[in-house]
Amino acid sequence: TDYLARIEAQNAAINAFITVDRAGALAAADAADAAIAAGTAGPLAGLPIAHKDIFCTEGVLTTCGSKMLANFVSPYDAHVVSQLKAAGVVSLGKTNCDEFAMGSTNENSAYGAVKNPWNLSRVPGGSSGGSAAAVAAGMIPAATGTDTGGSIRQPAGLCGITGIKPTYGTVSRYGMVAYASSLDQGGPMAHTAEDCALLLNHMAGFDSRDSTSLERAKDDYSAQLSQPLAGLKIGLPKEYFGEGLAADVRAAIENALAELRKLGASTVEVSLPNTHLAIPAYYVIAPAEASSNLSRFDGVRYGHRAAEYKDLAEMYAKSRSEGFGKEVQRRILVGTYVLSHGYYDAYYIKAQQLRRLIAEDFKQALSQCDIIAGPVAPTAAWGIGQMADDPVQMYLADIYTIAVNLAGLPALSTPAGFSAEKLPVGLQLIGNYFGEARLLNVAHQLQ
Ligand code: GLN
Repeated sequence: TDYLARIEAQNAAINAFITVDRAGALAAADAADAAIAAGTAGPLAGLPIAHKDIFCTEGVLTTCGSKMLANFVSPYDAHVVSQLKAAGVVSLGKTNCDEFAMGSTNENSAYGAVKNPWNLSRVPGGSSGGSAAAVAAGMIPAATGTDTGGSIRQPAGLCGITGIKPTYGTVSRYGMVAYASSLDQGGPMAHTAEDCALLLNHMAGFDSRDSTSLERAKDDYSAQLSQPLAGLKIGLPKEYFGEGLAADVRAAIENALAELRKLGASTVEVSLPNTHLAIPAYYVIAPAEASSNLSRFDGVRYGHRAAEYKDLAEMYAKSRSEGFGKEVQRRILVGTYVLSHGYYDAYYIKAQQLRRLIAEDFKQALSQCDIIAGPVAPTAAWGIGQMADDPVQMYLADIYTIAVNLAGLPALSTPAGFSAEKLPVGLQLIGNYFGEARLLNVAHQLQ
């Protein structure tokens, strides 16, 4: 009830929640209390959390930030939701996000922009901006997010919290509405690396309902938290510290790196020479997959359906143009174009080749160090409306996060200090496949 009161007091100003499930939360809290009394409680019994509104939740509205799903109540829980439920968490509701997770500012939501709690005229980042803002404002201690090209790390960075995107295949995508299936990964967002580790322990694991879920022994993400950093070799990609990185963000990152050196780590320069190809490759592959994934929203079985139409074709066209926002339509068009006959080889196949080169870059760099460190975003949080009419400028701000998704690697954002305007700056740590526990260890030592 404490957190429900905080949400009620702050949500009008921050707009972090699309749905507050008061009745469900109170019932779940009572159940958790009863389980604690009976000695049958799960390890996270009673922990209040919120889910990004892209995870299906049984009996609770799941909008994906879209008008298309304004009335969609899922008949089942996403794997992440049911796993966390089994551990005893109490979900207080669903957080705002860019429509179908497409965006870097949370301005592409049919339910309005989310405000950054550090400065209400700034964006919280996106697409998991509602989750990041809710945690940063103290409306909830932890939330789930999804990261296709930075959507956990970038809002975590811009809001001064911790968020981790696990290795592709670690967290089941079952019930997580698909944006770009070969890139999407769910993960936790919380104040600390320790809390993220705790949550990830219950989110990760094999699930036969996701064909890309990896069948391997369960990791304990909390196990290495207190390991000393002596001997840790951190690679600094020279491409991540070049032109385009704001001076105040660079200074905050340098400070955090100095702190890590004091804790016993050493740094070495590495190179990711194909970094400049990450944005063009991503903005072909992600829309291509999105155009295919979003074809299911046709107004027939679920989702928005136009009120009036002459025939089936007009029903599809009207339902989709009314239900989807501008950015989603732009991506469907781009995706359909790059997949169409005559352009497929020139764009989609080329982008897949670039993806391979980008993954090779990381392999090379990670053979010279244990983890890679750099910025999450080129600047601290920018103004609401500042990039709203310039999608390309917004895509360019994803430069440090999207290559990680193309390679399928794990990465997190941990607070690194503040910008000149006293806004949070995130430090990004990138690990090798299944290196989550080490990343959380380094972040924990820094925190
Ligand atoms: N900003 C990127 C995009 O718009 C990443 C979004 C995400 O990770 N879901 O596609």
